[in-house]
Amino acid sequence: MSTSEPSNAILLFRDDLRLSDHPALTAAAQSGQCLTCAFILDPNAPYPPGGARRWWLHHALNALTAQLADLGGKLVLRTGATADVLADLRKETGATHIYWSRRYTPDEIASDTALKADLTAAGCTVQSHPGRYLLEPWRVTTKSGTPFKVFSPFWRASRDEIRAVGLGDPLPVPKNITFADEVATASLEDFDLLPTAPNWAKGFEALWHPGEEGAMARLDAFLEEGAQGYAKGRDFPAEPHTSRLSPYLQSGNISPRQIWAALDRAEHLGQMSGRDAEKFRAELGWRDFAAYLLFHNRDFEDTEFQPKFRSFPWRHDTDALIAWQRGQSGYPIVDAGMRELWQTGYMHNRVRMVVASFLVKHLRIDWRAGRDWFWDTLLDGDLASNAASWQWVAGCGADAAPYFRVFNPMTQAEKFDPDGGYIRQYVPEIAALPDRYLAAPWKAPEDVRAKAGVEIGRTYPAPMVDHATARRAALEAFESLPSPG
Ligand code: FAD
Repeated sequence: MSTSEPSNAILLFRDDLRLSDHPALTAAAQSGQCLTCAFILDPNAPYPPGGARRWWLHHALNALTAQLADLGGKLVLRTGATADVLADLRKETGATHIYWSRRYTPDEIASDTALKADLTAAGCTVQSHPGRYLLEPWRVTTKSGTPFKVFSPFWRASRDEIRAVGLGDPLPVPKNITFADEVATASLEDFDLLPTAPNWAKGFEALWHPGEEGAMARLDAFLEEGAQGYAKGRDFPAEPHTSRLSPYLQSGNISPRQIWAALDRAEHLGQMSGRDAEKFRAELGWRDFAAYLLFHNRDFEDTEFQPKFRSFPWRHDTDALIAWQRGQSGYPIVDAGMRELWQTGYMHNRVRMVVASFLVKHLRIDWRAGRDWFWDTLLDGDLASNAASWQWVAGCGADAAPYFRVFNPMTQAEKFDPDGGYIRQYVPEIAALPDRYLAAPWKAPEDVRAKAGVEIGRTYPAPMVDHATARRAALEAFESLPSPG
């Protein structure tokens, strides 16, 4: 700084709740300005988080508050319209600069652009920084300069870009942050983010540790226990081969660049094979691709990417939707997934595909109903990944699975949960059945069911639809769509 009196600045935290590898925070700290760290709960912010993510936010803010306190600082919490709260904070602190991490969804871009214009007009300097994705969504295009629509060439181009330019090393927690004089803060309880009666998040506490420390611990545990064998094992929900980092990534408790660096290290140390590490990198690539698709197609979150599907004859069946949501479909792998989601705020990726296919194809219920349920119940609920994945399963997305690919919930269970460990955990009422009947308990002979204490229709539901009939109906509905052109 050239002036003798350091000026004041605000670091606005949003979905980047960490201190390390935080380019905006590093820039603010290096500026030498006196910093006020703030988080605003804006009731009118685009895409308000669902119930599960509100639980996460509470605990992640708590963790961030403690981290800042260790550095001698404070996290200022406020509620209200972001523009109004920033105006108040600027008055109270005398801040002339605001730092934030960039966001990439259409409404967030519009909102940040307008906010930046107003702040600039008011004489405030706004600096935005990257950090949420490996590459920002404008970094790669096809040779003709248009956005990619298919993952493989997108990922090849991204990989080439990363090889050529590098991601840079993850940044450490900035040293010597000068904090500004304290201003008033709301209490975290005022945000009212936690469920009250009934406390449906009870099961989350033992499983998740929101915040940066929790993210690093989860990453380390994965590298120790699950990383070796990831490429193959990631499809088996009873095995520890998925990282469960998605909620941490979603709230920015860890950056993809930090994970990338850890993968490089793990590969170098032989903790992970090259194949496993590359597969994991590609999954981070899918996360980037989802954000890329939404960035380049602003209706993508709500509208079928392939126009042909926009007239699909969806069924309206509230009872069926509720049975699916509650894990009462009568197909154990579907019910296990839906109950895992409700109990833990998470569902394994393989099972997400199965339950989504079941909703959209067996029940022919609009994918947006599934997207909304996931949004409310997933701790990793992410606008781009959720929409992209639902559209992928429904067959209407960019680079989607073809509509006629209808996951068979019985063979999926047999293949990916061969010992029934996953089904037994979440559908205990059929746990005593022998392995070979767990995928379709109604097919077990009566005496086997009786011995296991299973009475179809009483202790466990009968399948709500017949697989072969539902599959045929889905294909007929698909064939009824007008052909493109
Ligand atoms: P890992 O296998 O350990 O993968 C590592 C990371 O890569 C994940 O944390 C995630 O950030 C990313 N990733 C992995 N698979 C995908 C994918 N298919 N698409 C995008 N990113 C991926 N993921 C979300 O983060 N938020 C969502 O709201 C979401 N909704 C989904 C809805 C449906 C219907 C389906 C089929 C998938 C959805 N996914 C979503 C993608 C995927 O299921 C999760 O990212 C993954 O299960 C997270 O678990 P993990 O961290 O153990 O994954």
